[in-house]
Amino acid sequence: MSGIDSLPPLREVIATHGLSARKSLGQNFLLDLNLTAKIARAAGELGGADVLEVGPGPGGLTRGLLAEGARKVLAVEKDARCLPALQQIAGAYPGRLEVLQGDALEVDPLAHLSPPIKVVANLPYNVGTELLVRWLTPRTWPPVWQSLTLMFQKEVAQRIVAQPGGKAYGRLAVLAQWRCEVRVVMELPPEAFTPPPKVRSAVVHLTALPEPRYPADAGTLSKVVAAAFNQRRKMLRSSLKGLSPHIETLLENAGIAPTSRAEEIPVENFCALARQLAS
Ligand code: SAM
Repeated sequence: MSGIDSLPPLREVIATHGLSARKSLGQNFLLDLNLTAKIARAAGELGGADVLEVGPGPGGLTRGLLAEGARKVLAVEKDARCLPALQQIAGAYPGRLEVLQGDALEVDPLAHLSPPIKVVANLPYNVGTELLVRWLTPRTWPPVWQSLTLMFQKEVAQRIVAQPGGKAYGRLAVLAQWRCEVRVVMELPPEAFTPPPKVRSAVVHLTALPEPRYPADAGTLSKVVAAAFNQRRKMLRSSLKGLSPHIETLLENAGIAPTSRAEEIPVENFCALARQLAS
């Protein structure tokens, strides 16, 4: 018996179903159920919420989410080898776990859930940033989800919470902090995973604000920050010149010196520039 449910220990699950970790799928599993319960708790109160989990693997975090009281968990997993282990969990929590086999980049799992919705995941490193950007940039706000509690490589977590002026500040910080409250809630050493990755990991908790901090069109802002940080050492008047023939004037109207560099510019001014470009 494990600490939090009547299912077999995860090491046994992995052995029974032959779940040797595949690097191509970003598989670094969490096998300590106390730890997965802690991550589930970092998502806040789960009772009464639907949870989307991307990449459940053998189901350690899934078990934590169910044991912590999630109303329903929808788990989207690309690796078909994991399905029997996940079905076993579904059997232990009747009617509360739905497993969807597929690529989280191809399906729209949020459409299967009812609010309030929380997203909780130990994300595969190769698709984590792409998924985060999609969750952050729907056209309208607030989004269908209430919060995102996501495990990333520590370096990515630092980029999400970074402030202007530092090396980690970039597209992710602007898009995340524009519309969310963000904080790093936990750090984990490589040994917490099987197999251990090369780097440390961290869990970031993002809470959707009722409305963005500053008005801007999500598509325009995304374009601005992509261009600005693509050539981060260049002055903004040259990295952004492709966006408008009048970029110097627009930068000045947005309170940005045309000779400044992207990493010095606060979220507020990027939003002002996006408004200038859209008007
Ligand atoms: N949640 C499990 C845990 O914490 O032990 C596994 C986490 S592991 C870092 C990432 C998981 O995402 C793997 O199970 C992998 O098969 C799955 N995965 C990788 N790419 C995926 C994709 N595009 N869509 C859905 N799942 C994916």
